[in-house]
Amino acid sequence: MATCQRCKKSGILVRVDAHDVCRSCRQVMTRDALQRAKSIADAAEQIDRGERLDLRLARCETILEHAGVLRSYGELGVWVEDVDPGEVLSRFRERKREIVHGALADIVEGASGRAAGATSTSTRRGALEKGLEKIESLKTWLDDPKEALRYENDLASRIARLVDAP
Ligand SMILES: [Zn+2]
Repeated sequence: MATCQRCKKSGILVRVDAHDVCRSCRQVMTRDALQRAKSIADAAEQIDRGERLDLRLARCETILEHAGVLRSYGELGVWVEDVDPGEVLSRFRERKREIVHGALADIVEGASGRAAGATSTSTRRGALEKGLEKIESLKTWLDDPKEALRYENDLASRIARLVDAP
């Protein structure tokens, strides 16, 4: 007696394929896989158009989510032509990381630029501390938040030098 891996239906009337998936599940997964592949392509295009930072990062997350599902479908023998879920996963993990690092570098540059242009030590400190706050909220997008450390250290050392100044 066959049991479908996906819907768990079993019985003498249930026919499963080589991956132990029934016909109706295979159809559902095939349709869903095509839809997800399209969503991945759309999101990738929107990231390239250069939207706001949080939107670009959210789209990377969306792509990773779809690719994760496609990978699990692949294990059940459902593939979308020209889409390699493993490749999509590694490409967009890296893309997301690059976007975050670019933004962290911009924060450091912006904060130290504003600090340099400030006329008082307290304004200077404020600009640098604001930068640290921004890093704090942005680093949650990193798989390893420790990667944000060098940006934090950069601003923290500028703050420390302010304190040391006469
Ligand atoms: Zn099924």
